Amino acid sequence: MTRLLWWLRRDLRLNDNAALYYALMRAQHVLPVFVLDPTLLNADRLRGARMAWLFESLRAIDASLRAYGSRLIVREGSPDQVLLSLCAESGAAGVIFNRDYSPYAAQRDAAVKRAFGQRSLIAQDCADLLIHEPNAVPSKSGSPYDVYSPFRRAWEALPKPDPYTITDAMRAKLGLPAELANLHSLPIPIAEQPAPQPIGAPTEAEAQRRLAQFIAAPIYRYHERRDLMAEDGTSALSPYLRFGMISARTCYHAAQQARAAAADESARKGVDVWVSEIVWREFYYQVLARYPHSVRHNFRPAYDAVQWEDDPAHLAAWREGRTGYPVVDAAIHQLLHTGWMHNRTRMIVASFLCKDLLCDWRHGERFFMQHLLDGDVANNVGGWQWTAGTGTDAAPYFRIFNPVAQSEKFDPEGNYIRRWLPALAKLPTKFIHAPFTMSAADQRHLGVQLGRDYPLPIVDHGAQREKALRMYGAAKQAKDKA
Ligand SMILES: Cc1cc2nc3c(=O)[nH]c(=O)nc-3n(C[C@H](O)[C@H](O)[C@H](O)COP(=O)(O)OP(=O)(O)OC[C@H]3O[C@@H](n4cnc5c(N)ncnc54)[C@H](O)[C@@H]3O)c2cc1C
Repeated sequence: MTRLLWWLRRDLRLNDNAALYYALMRAQHVLPVFVLDPTLLNADRLRGARMAWLFESLRAIDASLRAYGSRLIVREGSPDQVLLSLCAESGAAGVIFNRDYSPYAAQRDAAVKRAFGQRSLIAQDCADLLIHEPNAVPSKSGSPYDVYSPFRRAWEALPKPDPYTITDAMRAKLGLPAELANLHSLPIPIAEQPAPQPIGAPTEAEAQRRLAQFIAAPIYRYHERRDLMAEDGTSALSPYLRFGMISARTCYHAAQQARAAAADESARKGVDVWVSEIVWREFYYQVLARYPHSVRHNFRPAYDAVQWEDDPAHLAAWREGRTGYPVVDAAIHQLLHTGWMHNRTRMIVASFLCKDLLCDWRHGERFFMQHLLDGDVANNVGGWQWTAGTGTDAAPYFRIFNPVAQSEKFDPEGNYIRRWLPALAKLPTKFIHAPFTMSAADQRHLGVQLGRDYPLPIVDHGAQREKALRMYGAAKQAKDKA
């Protein structure tokens, strides 16, 4: 076979990539294609930061491809139509791509397979996004898992796939044949706002550097440091995994190498806990693939009857980071400035929205999708439903985070708050977690006036906690009676 299209979607890398590997094994020439799909690009859920990050990562992979005499062919339109016409123009025998599991992706890919099948063209999809595909983790009952721990045990028991080794000699097949040198490609769009960069450049090389740096040392203390929001105790690889600048397989095997070199039991624990987070990612994909309704609906219908208050003023204060609870506001500022938020604070702000402000988790889920570089439907919905208490394997609804206690525990010196809320930078640690405990004299003395320099709390946590318990309890009772 002479030519195949390699359709890139969220696998923007030239190493350990199943679709690229099989394309290079099967064809003489492989043409890399990215389709600007209006359904995704115009979606309200793909905004500023992640869109800019995507465009920059396309520029980066285009530059990498050029080193092999190739380039990214960019087209716009409905993927089935665009890919068909590109096959006709280039003489390609078909297309290879890596599978994705969101309801939209599944429907889009089925349309491509149908259209290609009707014309006897190849449309091959490959397992790549996960270490084990959703239906590859067996359960005793045969039904999908809705609890993480048994899923993890079954997942761990499976033999792990090796990374795909793609050599430079193989990549030579990416070179465009002379007769296709003028194959039309749209310019990679420029985003209206630049991608926030504190997390690092959106490139495969940066993802590899980050992983290498993480497994060299921080991984060994991951279990001790991962919840400390002011420290860099986690890998910050999520945006890279989101766009496939690195594969979960590569991360897993790197972690196993680190484990083999670990000095003691504690260091091995660090590695194992980190791998267990990768397994959460796999778990939430399994949930997404097997229970697609959970994307927009409560996984547990018992909570459909919750009477959310959805006060627009509360929602606006939460979105703008002015609730008067510093850890919540600091986290929202981190998100708005960098496109990333620490996992501990994701849980705190999500709990605060649902259980202190009594707002439907779907408002928060949408806001996160609009701002997170790693915004990913499986993990985001999973994280939100877990925190709201409506999802698979959810924290019970009566477990309600106290934002002040969480802040004292996981940011003991208040450094995370000071970094993201400069207005509070000069507060001593005894006031940083709850500035509303300052007297008027304290405020004068410290030069920070509540209501002017930083908001007073928009709700009282204790009172809202009681309200939330009543709200969830009533919904559950109504369901139990029905
Ligand atoms: C309300 C809420 C929303 C979230 N939304 C997203 C999202 O849109 N996209 C996203 O990738 N993660 C999401 N998470 C999960 C988690 O917060 C991030 O994956 C993590 O903070 C990324 O940081 P890291 O790369 O340093 O992770 P590390 O701690 O280094 O973990 C390594 C990798 O494991 C995966 N992972 C870690 N924790 C989780 C988790 N709890 N659930 C699923 N996968 C996990 C990620 O791919 C991560 O990059 C959400 C969590 C909550 C509570």
